[in-house]
Amino acid sequence: MKEQIIAQFQKAFGRAPEFVTRAPGRIEFIGNHTDYNGGTVLGASIDRGVWVALARRTDGKRRFFSAFAGEITEAAAGVPQAQTGKASWINYPLGVLAALPVFGLKAPEGFDYVAASDLPTGAGLSSSAAIELASALAFLEATGQRPDRETVVKIGKHAENHFVGVPCGILDQGVSGFGKKDHLVFIDCRGPKFATVPLPSDAHFWIFNTHHKHALVDGMYAARHRECMEAAKAIGVSLLVEASIQQLDAAKATLSSDAYKRAKHVIEEIARVEAANTALRAGDLAGVGKLLTASHRSSQNYFENSTPELDLLVDTLTGTPEVFGARLTGGGFGGAVMALTSARFGDAQAESVAAVYEKVYGTKPEILHCQTGDGAAVS
Ligand code: ADP
Ligand code: MG
Repeated sequence: MKEQIIAQFQKAFGRAPEFVTRAPGRIEFIGNHTDYNGGTVLGASIDRGVWVALARRTDGKRRFFSAFAGEITEAAAGVPQAQTGKASWINYPLGVLAALPVFGLKAPEGFDYVAASDLPTGAGLSSSAAIELASALAFLEATGQRPDRETVVKIGKHAENHFVGVPCGILDQGVSGFGKKDHLVFIDCRGPKFATVPLPSDAHFWIFNTHHKHALVDGMYAARHRECMEAAKAIGVSLLVEASIQQLDAAKATLSSDAYKRAKHVIEEIARVEAANTALRAGDLAGVGKLLTASHRSSQNYFENSTPELDLLVDTLTGTPEVFGARLTGGGFGGAVMALTSARFGDAQAESVAAVYEKVYGTKPEILHCQTGDGAAVS
C-alpha cells in the first residue's frame, strides 16, 4: 500500500510526498454500549487501514485527493469550513486541522494531501477513525510536533464528535491509536486508560457485513442512552459501571422494563469484558468465544440492538466447529457480525455461512478475513 499511495500522490500532484502515515481500522471485540456507561471495552486493530501521504506547500493552499471522490478538492486557507456533497470526505482531515489548536497544537498551513485505503468504508471497521488518526500524524509530522499517543487519539475523537458531528465514544480512535499486532486493546473508558492484552496466536477474525442498517438508528441509540441513564439514576449511581446486578434488582420496581433490561445488559457486559480479559491472559480462546456469544445473546434479549439478520449469522457461525464465538460488532441495529475462529476456519466455511444467509435474505453478506495489526504510526 505504501508504494501505491506514493504513486497516487505522484500522479495527483506531480511530485513525491514528504511524509506517509497509516492508521488501522478496528473491531469492537467485546464491550457493547459499555463506553458511555463508564465501562470497559476490548477492541482489535486490524491489518487493514487508511494511509495518508502529504507534502507541504509554501503558498498556503490545502489540496486533498482520494480515489474515494476521484478528484482534487482545494479547501480555503484559515479556519476549516465543513464541506457538503462529493467533497464531504475532507471533513475528516479538516476536522483534525480544526481540532489541533484545541489541544494547543499548530495546524500546518499549505499542503498537498492524499488518502488511500484497503479498509472498506461504512463496514463497521471505523475507516473514519483511521483517516482521522492517519491525518493527525501527517499534520503533526509536517509541523514537527510530537504529542503523546493519547493526545493523537483525542484529536481524532474531537474531529469526529465536533466537526463531522458523530457522537462516537473513545473505542474507535483508542484502538486505532493504541493497537498492536497480536494484541487487543483494553480501554477503561473512565480515564480513559489504555492497555494491550496479548492475543493467543490461533485467533482469526471474520467479519460478515450485512450492509443493512436500521433507518432510525440515531434515535435508537439515543433511546438506549436515555434508558441507561434512567437506570443509573434509579440505582443512585452516576454511571452504570458503579452498579451491581443486586443493586439493579433492588431498584427494579422503580424502573421501566426497558430500562431494567438495558442496564442488565450493560452491567453484565462489563463483567464479560473483565472475564474475557482474564481468559485471554490465560490463552483460553474457547472461554473467550463463549463470552463473545453470550454478549450477542445479551444484545439480542436485553439491549435489543440485534436484528434477525445478525442473529441468523451468529446462529450459523456458532454451529460451526472452528468458530470460538460470534457476536454483532459495533452499535447494532444492523451492520456486521464478527466471528473469532481458529486457523482451520477458511474461505469454504465462510462461504457456507454466507450461503445460509443468502438463502433466507436473497443477498450475500460481505466477507472479510482479518488479523490484528499495529496501531497508527508514521510509515
Ligand atoms: P466507518 O467508520 O464504519 O467506516 P463512517 O461512515 O463513520 O464509516 O466513515 C466513512 C467515511 O470516512 C467515508 O464516507 C469517507 O467520508 C471517509 N473515509 C474513510 N476512508 C476514506 C478514504 N480512504 N478516502 C476518503 N475518505 C475516506
Ligand atoms: Mg465511523
